[in-house]
Formats: sequence, C-alpha cells, structure tokens
Amino acid sequence: MEKILIVDDSRLQAVQLKSILEDEYDITVAQTAKDGLSLASTEDFSLILLDVIMPGMDGFELLKKLQEEIITQSVPVILITSLSDVQDEQHGLILGAVDYITKPFNPQIVKARVNTHIKLYNYRRQVEYQSRTDQLTGIANRRQHDRYSFTKWNEAARLKKPFSVCMFDIDYFKAYNDTFGHPAGDKVIAALAKTLSFYLRRSTDFLARYGGEEFVAFLIGDSSQQAFEHLKKIRQAVEELHIPHAPSVSRWVTVSVGGVTVIPEAESSYDFYLKIADAMLYDAKKTGRNRVVWANENMEQLREGRPKCLNPVDKPKASGYNGPSAEELPLFYKH
Ligand code: GH3
Ligand code: MG
Ligand code: MG
Repeated sequence: MEKILIVDDSRLQAVQLKSILEDEYDITVAQTAKDGLSLASTEDFSLILLDVIMPGMDGFELLKKLQEEIITQSVPVILITSLSDVQDEQHGLILGAVDYITKPFNPQIVKARVNTHIKLYNYRRQVEYQSRTDQLTGIANRRQHDRYSFTKWNEAARLKKPFSVCMFDIDYFKAYNDTFGHPAGDKVIAALAKTLSFYLRRSTDFLARYGGEEFVAFLIGDSSQQAFEHLKKIRQAVEELHIPHAPSVSRWVTVSVGGVTVIPEAESSYDFYLKIADAMLYDAKKTGRNRVVWANENMEQLREGRPKCLNPVDKPKASGYNGPSAEELPLFYKH
C-alpha cells in the first residue's frame, strides 16, 4: 500500500481526510509542521497532504523546507486550505506544490486528485530509475556513473579521502560469444554484475556497467593497498564462479582489472584517473589477463605478480599531482 502523510493541526480535518483515503492508502497523520518534516525525511511517502494554516511553522514554510531536502524534494505535495484565495493558490504552486484542495472536501475529488498525483509520481520514479539503470544487469548504467562520479569525486576531495577507481573487462569475451552465442554471453555479463555487486556493497561503493562487457567501480576511503587486496579477492571470486569459457582460450571466464587510488585535489579530475585505471587495465591484459594491476598514490604499480614502478623519478609533490600525464601512459585498452 502506498503511504500518504497528512500534516494538519486540526484533528477533525485530518480524520476526515483519512477516512476518505484509508481504504486505498496507508495514512500517517502529523499534527505539527515540525513532526511532518521529520516524518517526511525518515519515511518513504508517495504524497503529502499539507494544511496551509497551522500555528508555528505554516504549510508554506514546511513546503519550502521539503523542497530544500534531497530526500523529500521529489515527493508531491497537495496543499489544503479553506482560503479559496487565488493569491494563496499561486504562492503554493510557485513554491512547488503540485495541486491545491479547498475545504469543504468533496471526497470524490480528493480521491481523484490524490490518485492522479500518486500515479504521476510513480511514473516519474520509474522513468528516473530506468534512466540510471542498465537493463541487462540492474546495476547503474554509464549515464549514472557520469553523474555520480562527479559528485563523489568532489565529496572525497572536500573530505580529503582516498578515492579508488577501477575498470573490469572480461577476458577473451569475443571468443565466448563466438562459441556459446550472444544470449549466453549476456547471462555471463549479468552473473558477473551480481558477483561484483556482492563485493562492492558498502554504502560508499559504486559499480556501473560502463560498456558492453566492461564495468567501472569506485571505492572511497581505502588505501591503495586495501583497494588492491579487495579487487584481487573480487577477481578471484569471478574466476571461482567456474563459468566454462571457450575451450580454445581458457578454462573459466575471468576478468582483468585496472585501478588507481588517489586523494583527490581541487585541480585534479576524475576523468584523468579513469584514464589511468584504463591504462592499468591495458597492462593487466598485456601481461596475461585474469589479474589486477593497480597504481598507488605515488604512481607505483601494484600487480598480481612482479611489482614494478611506473615512473620512479616522478613522485607526486605535496602541492599536487606530479606523476606521468595521462598522455604518457599506455593509453586506452583498444576495444
Ligand atoms: P580481451 O578483452 O581479453 O582482450 O578480449 P575480448 O574478446 O573480450 O575483446 P574485446 O573487448 O575486443 O571484445 C569484447 C567483446 O564483448 C565483443 C562483443 O562480442 C562482446 N560484447 C560486448 N557487449 C556485449 C553484450 O552486451 N553482450 C554480449 N553477449 N557480448 C558483448
Ligand atoms: Mg574483453
Ligand atoms: Mg572490452
């Protein structure tokens, strides 16, 4: 059942509204704007019915606060008032209310308006969900990655937290498709997404399908060594799914992983480090596949196998990044 919040200081009015809607919806009533605000920010409502005139914080003020908070700003608000004053209506709609109901209530009209706005809200949520989700795997798509990475990179820069970005690419996947067919290949991509999600489920972790058989992830707060160790575990978990590969190339389906850990600075950019992660992936492919190659904070390589220094003379200075430029690195694993 969808949840509706009624914020109204008049008990009688709240009871009236509740009786009109309770057959179809799960109703919660708050008698002050303050309680309404705290309920709206902690519970998942599909609609808020808000009385305009209340002692203390009034409906307009609460509406403004709801609009300012990320978690409440998209929940539709219908204002209720006995004032059939055009100016009040206008004010409420400008502040972001989706509709207006005037007293005395006509139950059929109240129901119809509520139903319409809840339908619209659900439709919008579904469209938003689809626009950020990859259909095959159910994880974030590249568009969501582009948006989210920007926000999180800046957040990590502000908090001076290490940021790790890594790319995964399935090994010899063309041969898999050629042997077992494209639909079977799709199932492998979905199975991999599930495994990667399982190991990247901290609230600060993020995983997206970046392209056909490529994934990108970032982790916040881990040192390069911690991130490297974790990614080795994930790489191994993929191998241990024991998905038979095309016999001509390998026994099981595996992934190569390239990544980098850095403490973001104001002048550094996420895209630059994504290119470094891609360069590390290229290295993992070149040196045998089914392995993790990582660049640490000093731009030294950590690799499964023999470690080597990327550019030992170029250590970053305290003022910022001074390692090899993206152009100097073996760029872009060719697809
Ligand atoms: P490697 O990465 O190890 O160098 O070899 P590869 O064979 O995986 O190389 P490449 O990246 O060139 O090929 C990727 C293949 O992935 C090509 C395409 O057939 C397959 N692929 C890409 N997207 C999809 C998809 O959505 N579904 C399926 N089934 N296959 C896909
Ligand atoms: Mg591949
Ligand atoms: Mg590829």
